[in-house]
Amino acid sequence: MAKLFRAAIMGPPGSGKGTISKRIAQSFGLQYLSSGHFLRENIAANTDAGELVKTYIERSTLVPDQLMTRLMLPRLEQLRDHSWLLDGFPRTLSQAQALNNLFQLDLVISLNIPYETLRERVSDRWVHPASGRVYNMGFNPPREQGKDDITGEPLIQHDDDKPEALMARLRQYKDVAKPVIDLYKSQGILHSFSGTDTNRIWPYINSLLLTKMHT
Ligand code: AMP
Repeated sequence: MAKLFRAAIMGPPGSGKGTISKRIAQSFGLQYLSSGHFLRENIAANTDAGELVKTYIERSTLVPDQLMTRLMLPRLEQLRDHSWLLDGFPRTLSQAQALNNLFQLDLVISLNIPYETLRERVSDRWVHPASGRVYNMGFNPPREQGKDDITGEPLIQHDDDKPEALMARLRQYKDVAKPVIDLYKSQGILHSFSGTDTNRIWPYINSLLLTKMHT
């Protein structure tokens, strides 16, 4: 069997994390696991876990660490024979430590995107609340204006994508992510990428993965 490869991607809202994750998953055959998507699926399916996390997601506040690890780690255990890419988990140092007790990551990608770029992207962002599908009116618009491509349901803009709220979210991201980034830096597995254009960052990430996955 080929060697398993376990990676995570970190970045603030609007960093292009979703787009890059999809490309990584497709190009390198990694199973993609987004914690936000996983939680929303549970809410949509009315599971016990969904019931527990619903209020946090609705208020865009972080799900408490203990609950989050209780949900995510068993899912990762199920995928122990797969190579995967985590998006959105671990978010905090405590989550990263809990994950470390179970799996050693091979690689962590961190996206550093200038504030102005994040602001522009996020203010153009519309979402389909039930699925979490995200559209950008500038570079990834829906086929029909204001409607989700798959269900045709209306798209909404989150209050927390407005500029004042974005500042607060970025500050929170930085505070919470810093110790996680430091941990992975100390393990020698952190790779940071900076830039304003996802398409220009992608080739660097692609070649890093080519090297890391085949050595
Ligand atoms: P995301 O799609 O990654 O922005 O996540 C959407 C929401 O899910 C967040 O606002 C949090 O409420 C929750 N969430 C996702 N991942 C985590 C995590 N690792 N720790 C705590 N809360 C999370």
